Amino acid sequence: MKTLRLILGDQLNSKHSWYKTINKNVIYCMFEMRQETDYVTHHIQKIIGFFAAMREFSNHLKNNHFNVEYFTLNNKNNTQNLISNLKLLINKHNIEKFEYQLPDEYRLDQQLSSFCENLEIEFKTFTTEHFYTSRNDLKDFFKGKKQYLMENFYRNMRKKHNILMVGNQPEGGRWNYDKSNRNKWNGERNIPNYKYFKNNVSEIVELIKNSNIKTIGNFNTKTFNYPVTRQQALEQLKYFCEELLIHFGDYQDAMHTNEIYLFHSRLSFAINLKLISGKNVVNTVINYWKKHNEEIHVSQVEGFIRQIIGWREYMRGMYWALMPDYKNENHLKNTNKLPEFYWTGNTKMNCLKNAIANSLDNSYAHHIQRLMVTGNFALLAQINPDDVDAWYLGIYIDALEWVQLPNTRGMSQYADGGKIATKPYVSSGSYINKMSNYCSNCHYSNKEKLGEKACPFNSLYWNFLDDKRSILGNNRRMGMMYSLLDKMNKDQLEKIKKRAQSIIKHPDHF
Ligand code: FAD
Ligand code: SF4
Repeated sequence: MKTLRLILGDQLNSKHSWYKTINKNVIYCMFEMRQETDYVTHHIQKIIGFFAAMREFSNHLKNNHFNVEYFTLNNKNNTQNLISNLKLLINKHNIEKFEYQLPDEYRLDQQLSSFCENLEIEFKTFTTEHFYTSRNDLKDFFKGKKQYLMENFYRNMRKKHNILMVGNQPEGGRWNYDKSNRNKWNGERNIPNYKYFKNNVSEIVELIKNSNIKTIGNFNTKTFNYPVTRQQALEQLKYFCEELLIHFGDYQDAMHTNEIYLFHSRLSFAINLKLISGKNVVNTVINYWKKHNEEIHVSQVEGFIRQIIGWREYMRGMYWALMPDYKNENHLKNTNKLPEFYWTGNTKMNCLKNAIANSLDNSYAHHIQRLMVTGNFALLAQINPDDVDAWYLGIYIDALEWVQLPNTRGMSQYADGGKIATKPYVSSGSYINKMSNYCSNCHYSNKEKLGEKACPFNSLYWNFLDDKRSILGNNRRMGMMYSLLDKMNKDQLEKIKKRAQSIIKHPDHF
């Protein structure tokens, strides 16, 4: 039966069962489309990376004798729309059956399922064979429970998949090493140069420019440095095991003006495009650690494994459990506009300047920069979560809605009222000072609450607590913060709030 199989840009899993046999009656199709370049303003490196990886994947299939119809963005037959392109190929090749892998994004899932409802030929869906869990596993796991705690899900994953377990006990005797994973990095450990791949993407850069696609961010390196093939992803993973794993946990939350990646793996782009799976990553890391467990402490490995089988699978499960309503949640009723400096890095606040410069230059920031610098400021300044989502979805190389949305709207902005985070991730300047060297070179003083030189995070923090008391005041995990607020002198609080209001009104003046 003449069959058309769709491969989306984030479905580049060469180990999928689709590719076990070659059938001349099966045509695979891949499309570079304006539908995908324009649904949000993306970082230029993100579009480059997707197109480069898609082209590599298509070449890999062609070299292995699969039939592939690949539409570049400027292909004259390309309608720039997924459904019209599919219709065009179905007619052109007299297709009798359409097959696709279930998309991870709700938007594409809806588009394809409504297309299939009206399709006159047969159709069939497949899983992507990428995740540990299916779309609905998390929802089933938490059925009847009030709270969907990541920690419970994570422990169950460890047991179920026998990862870092000794019998039914956690390896090393502890489930969680978060407390020992909170070191500041002061340059005492040498960080190896990061591995980069020098992928030549000049043709794609020209194409993006000639097509007048609106992008953000910079691309100054001429070659593209993130992995775009499975082989490169495996090399990046090997490099991570050999050079970075040893201190991954220790410096997981650290930030530094001279360092972009510290001991982070830079694997999110490759994993999210499915060049490699979470299972590949976890098994490789565990096998490496088993051979080197005298040098590498279990806390480093646990810290990393938690991100993949815990946070990554959990976020995906939450997304599918809570969409589509999740996308509109705004529990704290925040309505302010995102400051202009998020797009330029043009601010005197050194932490934001650095985290945003990283993001603009590399389409990357690590977790704590996203959560406790840019996310923290956006929440304290009470920015509309729609604006915050659009920024995160556009700027990061690894941003796909299924993982970006629960991280941003849920974990970072508390717009879901605590479905993911049990309390808002907000802090004054002291947390940022504890984990970084940003404050020592800042125009502002992290110790001061008032005055022209006072760190803006300090006044925004107390103002936020005061403004949101009616919503957050009963949250038990915030009791300590509110009792400190209650002890504050009323005049002082009034002055702090006045300064906070002026920051909120004119964030770009700060
Ligand atoms: P490492 O620190 O080396 O971690 C290893 C891997 O664990 C990552 O590659 C990633 O696959 C996984 N991981 C770690 N934390 C998370 C998490 N919270 N959720 C899901 N997976 C995780 N991650 C994305 O992949 N896409 C996003 O769009 C995204 N948006 C985020 C938005 C906000 C506000 C926050 C706070 C976090 C977001 N994250 C997102 C999670 C995390 O910041 C990135 O996965 C990580 O920084 C990627 O860099 P790395 O590969 O060097 O990660
Ligand atoms: Fe950021 Fe405040 Fe520290 Fe400056 S003093 S770097 S604004 S936390």
